Amino acid sequence: VIEIRNLRKSFADLAVLKNISLSVERGTVVALIGPSGSGKSTLLRCVNLLTVPDGGEIRVGEQSLSFSGKATELPGDKVLAGFRARTGMVFQHFNLFPHMTVLQNVMEGPVTVLKKSKREAEAKARELLTKVGLAERADMFPDKMSGGQKQRVAIARALAMEPSVMLFDEATSALDPELVAEVLGVIQALAREGMTMILVTHEIAFAREVADQVVFMRDGVVVEAGPPAQVIDNPQQEATRSFLGRIL
Ligand code: ATP
Ligand code: MG
Repeated sequence: VIEIRNLRKSFADLAVLKNISLSVERGTVVALIGPSGSGKSTLLRCVNLLTVPDGGEIRVGEQSLSFSGKATELPGDKVLAGFRARTGMVFQHFNLFPHMTVLQNVMEGPVTVLKKSKREAEAKARELLTKVGLAERADMFPDKMSGGQKQRVAIARALAMEPSVMLFDEATSALDPELVAEVLGVIQALAREGMTMILVTHEIAFAREVADQVVFMRDGVVVEAGPPAQVIDNPQQEATRSFLGRIL
């Protein structure tokens, strides 16, 4: 589904992504791990075009974009919007709309962006809230909910856009430990249903369980990539070993 080729991104003179290449097959889960500052969030943001790359290519489904670093060659708003709609992003801090109920949060994108009728959007939203275990909370406001519940709403909201891939950036890092499992459970259920996902995570045990491919990044490059049994349990690179040694 996703093909990333020679992706480059710098902020001022800091090269954050240096020729990253990565492919993600439909229905598979990639776990992106690596030290702070290695470029994991920037990579996810590039896939979603929240950050525009300086160079390289990104293909999501049938749509492919290449970047040359010239402002004149940036994709237009329509293309960007189409791309973003295809990639559902879930952040560490849920970013729910505080003035809307849970149901309204989940319906908002489908109604305003996908131009669905309210009826259709509501039916879909209720179905997704059921899926994340929050059917009964549809009329609550986010500030009355726990972090784990808010994050599950954020997942339902992203799913409502019918993305072809879901991107999770440390979706459980801001949660109290006892709330982590309920969010990981939802992610795991999505994996079982065959959702294509890229997860940035520090939960190595979870990555081992759910990921088909683990990608270890450091200093803007992919140091090592492969199945968990290789990258986590039998890393080939010293950098991977020392990172895992520090966090496991
Ligand atoms: P963490 O594990 O701490 O979340 P990360 O691997 O997600 O780290 P990034 O957030 O991608 O790392 O950041 C990589 C580098 O890019 C860091 O040095 C960061 O300071 C820098 N950076 C990220 N976004 C910007 C920005 N908008 N402007 C300037 N520098 C940035
Ligand atoms: Mg990050």
